[in-house]
Amino acid sequence: MKTVAQVVVIGGGVVGCSILYHLAKNGWTDVVLLERMELTSGSSWHAAGGLFTVVRPNAAAEMHKYTFQIYRELEKESGQDCGFHVTGGINICRTQEEMDSNAMMQSACRRLGIESHFISLHEAREKVPLLDTSHMLGALWEEEGGHVDPASATQAFAAAARQLGAEIYRHTPVTATHQRSDGSWDVDTDKVSIHAEYIVNAAGLWGREVAAMAGIELPLMPVEHHYLVTENLPIIENLGFELPQINDNETGVYARQEGMGLLLGAYESSCTHWAVDGTPLDFGHELLDEDLSRMEWNFEKSVELMPCLGDAGIKRIINGPMIFSPDLGPLIGPHPQLSNYFCANGVMAGFNQGAGIGRALAEWIIQGEPEIDIFCWDVARFGAWADKSYTRQATRYFYQNRSEKVYPYQEFEVGRPIHKPAVYARLSEANAVFGSSFGLEHANWFAAPGVEAKDSLTYRQPNWWKPVIDEGKRIRNELGLMEFSTMAKFEVSGSAAGRWLDFVMANKMPNLGRMTLSPMLSAKGRLAGDFSIARIDEDRFMVLGADTMQLAFMRHFDRYLPEQDVVLKNLSTEFGGLHICGPNAQALISRLAQADMDSAHFPFMSARSMTIGNIDNVLVFRVSFTGESGYEMYLPMQQQLALFDLLRSEGENLGLGLVGTRALMHTRLEKSFPAWALELSPDYTAVEAEMDRFVSLDKPDFVGRDAVIDYAPAREKFVTFSVDAGECALWGDEAIFLDGEPAGYVTSGGFGPLTEKHIALGYVSCDAYQITGQYSIEILGKLCPAELHLEPLYDPAGAKMRA
Ligand SMILES: Cc1cc2nc3c(=O)[nH]c(=O)nc-3n(C[C@H](O)[C@H](O)[C@H](O)COP(=O)(O)OP(=O)(O)OC[C@H]3O[C@@H](n4cnc5c(N)ncnc54)[C@H](O)[C@@H]3O)c2cc1C
Repeated sequence: MKTVAQVVVIGGGVVGCSILYHLAKNGWTDVVLLERMELTSGSSWHAAGGLFTVVRPNAAAEMHKYTFQIYRELEKESGQDCGFHVTGGINICRTQEEMDSNAMMQSACRRLGIESHFISLHEAREKVPLLDTSHMLGALWEEEGGHVDPASATQAFAAAARQLGAEIYRHTPVTATHQRSDGSWDVDTDKVSIHAEYIVNAAGLWGREVAAMAGIELPLMPVEHHYLVTENLPIIENLGFELPQINDNETGVYARQEGMGLLLGAYESSCTHWAVDGTPLDFGHELLDEDLSRMEWNFEKSVELMPCLGDAGIKRIINGPMIFSPDLGPLIGPHPQLSNYFCANGVMAGFNQGAGIGRALAEWIIQGEPEIDIFCWDVARFGAWADKSYTRQATRYFYQNRSEKVYPYQEFEVGRPIHKPAVYARLSEANAVFGSSFGLEHANWFAAPGVEAKDSLTYRQPNWWKPVIDEGKRIRNELGLMEFSTMAKFEVSGSAAGRWLDFVMANKMPNLGRMTLSPMLSAKGRLAGDFSIARIDEDRFMVLGADTMQLAFMRHFDRYLPEQDVVLKNLSTEFGGLHICGPNAQALISRLAQADMDSAHFPFMSARSMTIGNIDNVLVFRVSFTGESGYEMYLPMQQQLALFDLLRSEGENLGLGLVGTRALMHTRLEKSFPAWALELSPDYTAVEAEMDRFVSLDKPDFVGRDAVIDYAPAREKFVTFSVDAGECALWGDEAIFLDGEPAGYVTSGGFGPLTEKHIALGYVSCDAYQITGQYSIEILGKLCPAELHLEPLYDPAGAKMRA
């Protein structure tokens, strides 16, 4: 056995084996996988092996698509048959809402070239003669759907990895992991200890136990999951072809052909957790006691759709455990608290996602970053707020509600509120409709008095459409007050603070009393963050960015942080924020600040700590993402309420009204301001996202500088459209067409409150960028004419925000 390796992967399920294969395939062959029993001794051996590609978000779809590519190659490369069947897949639509949901997915998947199209009920019955189509309105057909044999696919990854030089030690449980001072790891087993530069926790059902060996806690919880296999069905025996993968999302059911019978699995309407306090160490190739009564509702709905099930005999029932994160998405990537420690945990659909996770982790380990933005699965998306109680509640909720559609801007109530801003009660009294971001509540919009403070859920225009437009108008015409704590807030101080920020950020740091906007780039020159940075004192800066990214940002900062002379603090929860915006904002702050606030003394992009009313040391930044004149104010959370009351009472005769974050997101569309996770992400270079004007190449050195100099030509162009969408709505991910051919995609959409136009921001491929082109945007299956705008629809010169 080896005692030294570049990487030790812990766990020989499909995910661990795929990671090992991808490391070796990318040239890292000094790699080892440790498995406590035989390979596939967790969830992998009893999976149903169903495969599909039409999923959201896009990064997940790309991973699913890659799976199909890899299984085709893997069978040849390993010589191991994976039992890979490409049958196509059919998404059953029982309601108009499901049709809409599928139309949105279909449009989103065009970006990746994933082929899907709606088929008639007649065609649906031709493809699946078992269907009683009277329960359906329609169906979406996906070309890449099918299934794989789980054990064979896992063995194929293992065999191909071995052929490339990787080593696998079975019956070798990892008993402890210790980190050395240089960041490398000792991995103890019952036989030897292996010294590795990196370790990967791919321990599946035991992800929590292996994490605990390194002193970390992962938000994971196992649940039980059933599927059954019927006896042979005559209708299938007489088919003459193999059935496609069947997804009946509204009933939480998936099905596929197994032999001459049907395999039918269900996300049961009551979720049963398993091994809540820890997965038994002696659990292996076992199943759990079956309880088909939990599948009763799902099964009844399936009999309605496929009546031949009504008198089918049941050959086999599987009840197996799988382990989930709170949102049921995988937890992958470098753990934010530990160097050289990678997670590959909570993988819900390992036979769809394992290949992509292997690819992404190998890229992350070898190249320092994955090739695509995979934040939707990043372990850093959960903070300490996702504790055991939250994880338990959320896994139950999302498992049980898997048959529910996810709507644009949908907020989930489960486990909330976790953290509340100090002004929560005031917002609540004003009938705020709350959302939650990284565990903190914020007001999305305000319902009229007496109206239920709740979002309606639809793909068309929801109940908040008009109120949010009205809030936007208030911002444009008078004065809005917004609770504004959901920002990642970092304080960087110390004698080398400026120098360090100049190195880690792409723009030059501001002078004292000023702010700047700066992208943060990865070593490969991709966007790793987007910040407002204010210099409060000579050696003290405030750095503000997207709140959900705060642990991911910390992870990036930590890579470059020197041991001395720079103090970095994450003040995101300690500090609260308030924002005033609109033409009367300057009048309000002038009344309250003990400083000259006119534009001559405190111009646009000024930043200072000042006294507001009787509240000292309020950090005031003259900037507004709405594109109006505005001021962001940050202060310790316990003082937020006093400042809020002061602003509200003084602003009364200046037309002040409470506004929510949705009004912010809609007003910024009129300004074509890009937002993190929508227009800005590691998927783009600074040039593609038009952020290069904030990249200061005259600085001698900063992270990503070499890559910027060597940028390949841009693949896509950032664009703004106004769209003739009528009574529909734009949400993001819709396909953009040029002369009837797919040309790009929308990243975010909405309605401009002052311009009164549907607005879409997005990207088109550079080849398809034509100033006079006839563009259209696909909304719920219909092509709507779109007009390209070369500058923002509102105040293109930026005179308002400087006024
Ligand atoms: C009933 C059922 C049906 C499913 N159907 C599908 C489907 O149709 N499609 C799909 O894509 N997915 C499906 N899944 C999910 C799929 O099974 C999982 O996503 C996948 O198996 C997870 O793989 P893994 O490698 O992460 O974990 P696991 O399979 O749990 O593997 C983890 C491995 O780590 C080893 N290990 C743990 N601790 C240690 C240690 N200390 N030292 C050494 N080794 C250790 C374990 O022995 C185990 O072999 C299904 C799951 C269930 C339960």
